[in-house]
Amino acid sequence: MFETSLNDSFARIDGNLKRGLILLADHARNTIPPEYGALGLPPEQFERHIAYDIGVEAVTRGLARALDCPALMATYSRLLIDPNRGADDPTLIMRVSDGAIVPGNALVDDAERERRIARFHRPYHGAITAEIERAKALGVDPVLVSLHSFTPFWKGIARPWHVGVLWDTDRRFAGHLLAAFRAAGDLCVGDNEPYSGALVGDTLYTHGTSRDLQHGLIEIRQDLIARQSGVDEWISRLAPILEAYMKGGS
Ligand SMILES: [Zn+2]
Repeated sequence: MFETSLNDSFARIDGNLKRGLILLADHARNTIPPEYGALGLPPEQFERHIAYDIGVEAVTRGLARALDCPALMATYSRLLIDPNRGADDPTLIMRVSDGAIVPGNALVDDAERERRIARFHRPYHGAITAEIERAKALGVDPVLVSLHSFTPFWKGIARPWHVGVLWDTDRRFAGHLLAAFRAAGDLCVGDNEPYSGALVGDTLYTHGTSRDLQHGLIEIRQDLIARQSGVDEWISRLAPILEAYMKGGS
């Protein structure tokens, strides 16, 4: 599959914009540019959810292929800067993440914050805006599908959901997702669980709510997509659900 990126902070998978859907993966990878020296963290921290959304890049790639729709993925770890936060959000650069102190973020001043925004955050969001503009130029109002994964446990408590749908004020697409997941019959489905979709300045607020484009965020429990067999299963689950919405139009 054709892949282009003019900036190393995001990857773009080419696809047919007339399909009316753009896939987004804010937390696809756990990489850190060498000059940041792993932010002072031991390597094992980069295998955890604090660094990235386990399984999501593979699911995103598989869905883009299955649906022939474009995808944009951030290619750096959320430990460096979180693409799913507004540039003015206090949790944009985390000093502590799920109990892990991040030494490389302890002394981030305004200049370093702006440097990270300019290099990692703004280009990714600029790429999303450009993708939306390309769709609109074709007469298409694209549906934005944001893909994430969540940990099976949080603060020692097991999370019951297999999948969650996060949304804020626009339930058009989220409602379709919720109904489809529930209709599967074998899934525990979270409605704005394990998180709320109402966060001003996050990716879907910026590109969906603010522009009145339909959107929804799908959270898959990470243990379900940590291996290729699970990735394949979830691509098979998600592709027809998204396909049905694309055919049904808006
Ligand atoms: Zn995420």
